[in-house]
Parts: sequence; C-alpha cells; structure tokens
Amino acid sequence: MVTISKDVRVRFAPSPTGNLHIGGLRAALFNWLFAKNNNGTFLIRIEDTDKERSTQEYVNSIIDALAWMKIKSDEPLHIQSEFEQKHREFLQKLITENKAYKCFCSTEELVKRLGDGTNIKYDLCCRDQACDDSDKRPYVVRFKIPDNIENVTFTDLIRGTITIARDQLDDFIIARSDGSPVYNFVVVIDDAAMKINYVSRGEEHLGNTVKQILLYEALGFEQPAWAHLPLILNPEGGKLSKRDGAVSVVEYKKDGYLPDALLNYLVRLGWSHGDQEVFTREELIKFFSLNAVGSSGAIFDIEKLDWLNGVYIRSMSADDLLSYI
Ligand code: GLU
Repeated sequence: MVTISKDVRVRFAPSPTGNLHIGGLRAALFNWLFAKNNNGTFLIRIEDTDKERSTQEYVNSIIDALAWMKIKSDEPLHIQSEFEQKHREFLQKLITENKAYKCFCSTEELVKRLGDGTNIKYDLCCRDQACDDSDKRPYVVRFKIPDNIENVTFTDLIRGTITIARDQLDDFIIARSDGSPVYNFVVVIDDAAMKINYVSRGEEHLGNTVKQILLYEALGFEQPAWAHLPLILNPEGGKLSKRDGAVSVVEYKKDGYLPDALLNYLVRLGWSHGDQEVFTREELIKFFSLNAVGSSGAIFDIEKLDWLNGVYIRSMSADDLLSYI
C-alpha cells in the first residue's frame, strides 16, 4: 500500500534523441496523474547530454506532443546540459573521496583479458592501484562498489521488496573517456537538485535504479521512492516496437486520434479502476493511484484504442469536431 508522506515532486525525463515514444508518454502520464492526484508538482527535464544524438528539433517535438496531451511542466523546463559543471564537480568529489577511481584499461585490453560477451564483469584491475594523476593515458571513471555491501535492497512501490546480490554488481562506469559523466550519474545529481521524491519509470530501468541507489548513498543524498511501471507489450507478448505499428506519439496525432482518447487508452495500460474503461480527465486525476498499477506487462491493443477513439469522437459536438478536423 503506497502511503504518501511528502509534498510530491515528480519528473518526466525524456532524451531528445527521437520523437516521444508511446511508452515515454505513458510514463509522463502516470507521473503527471500521480502529481495531480496528490496536489504535487510535475516537472519535465530534457536529458540532452548525449550531444551527438540530441537535437533541438526533438526537444520541440517532445514538448509539442506533451502539450497536445495537455501535459505541462509546473516549473520551467530543466535542461540537463546546463548543469554540466555541477555534474563534473560531483564526479571529482567522488574521486577525491576515493568512492570512484580512474580506470585506464582500454576496451582492447578488456576484451583481451575478459572476452567480449555482454555480461562480462570488470576485473577490478585499476581499483586498488593508487591513481597516478600524471598518467596521460585516457581513462574512464568507475564507481567503487563499497566493500561492505552484501546486496542492494529497496522497496518498489509497485513490485515490493527487490534485492540484488553483490555478485550481480560491477564497478560500473560513471564517466566516459572524454570526461563526460554518464546517464546513471547525472540523473542522480539532477533528481536530488530538483528535490524529486518519487521516481516512476519503465521496468527496463530496474538495473539503472540499483546503480543510482548506490550513488545516492555515496553522495549522501536522500533517496526518492521508486516505482517501476510494467512494460508495454505487443499482442504476441514481446516488446512493443516499430514493427507492431506506430510507436511515436506524433503519428497518432497525424492519424486522427483524439488526445483525450489516447490518454484514456494509455492510462489503462497497467492501471485499472474496477471495470471502468472511459474516464474524464478529472476522474483520472481523482482516481489515479500507484496502488492500482499492476506489475505484469500490458498488451498494446490497437482495436481497443480505435474503439475508445470512436467513443470520444461520438461524444464531441459537431462544432468541436469540425474545428478539430
Ligand atoms: N532519459 C532517460 C530515458 O529517456 C530517463 C530515464 C529516467 O526516467 O530516469 O530513458
């Protein structure tokens, strides 16, 4: 049972490396409804630190798609790249405190020593060698999993207690060889700076959450509560992808779906309120609760979306429908 004990501050944090995906919109929507249901604050953070793949065009397209759904940030947009200096300062702090270390092992050396499979763990070669700052070879920065940690346990508001054993953990990379900190690091600095106290995002982020919890502890920040939303699946039970039809929100707009119908449809992918299928926006805000979000994958059913869209179209006045067309 989720009991809300604080002033809720949540965020949706898209990376502008593509158009808004239907799964991203569902995460935005759940966070927005959770905030509104609790008289809390909903924020949008643009995670644009991947400079090669992020574009202003995608930032605009994501914000437009959210605005089309009438989902807006309650405070000015937080643009992650504007806080780069701060990210680097905290990175240096962890190195100075010996909670992170420079790793000079090149990819070629690692492949030679450990092979090139996907689940290879770092052999800690650089971990206990004192860092030689005069070394001019390129290096990445790795987080030092504290010696006294036996496992990482946390409460997921949807899934209950989750425990990850130490042997599943690796001294993971927190900054690339060009000095730029990676997603798992900057997200912790920004969430703490923005005073986010509930982080709800897709189940595919569970592995990231474990790393972020360790970073919260190392940095001495207060952790948010965590919730991992069920995956959106195709009718065969696989991960929803382009092959299953449109995955980007703008395509639904172009195809003539009404934003309220899409919103109503998406909220039912993982959340329920008795047998009710059609909800006004006010009802959604009133009824939404993380307690009623399930943990198993939700099947994306385009026929049900078409049916709901029909319900919404038929309920519109002729004038409203005409102006929408
Ligand atoms: N930028 C990340 C993504 O789009 C954010 C994930 C998160 O919510 O922490 O997947």
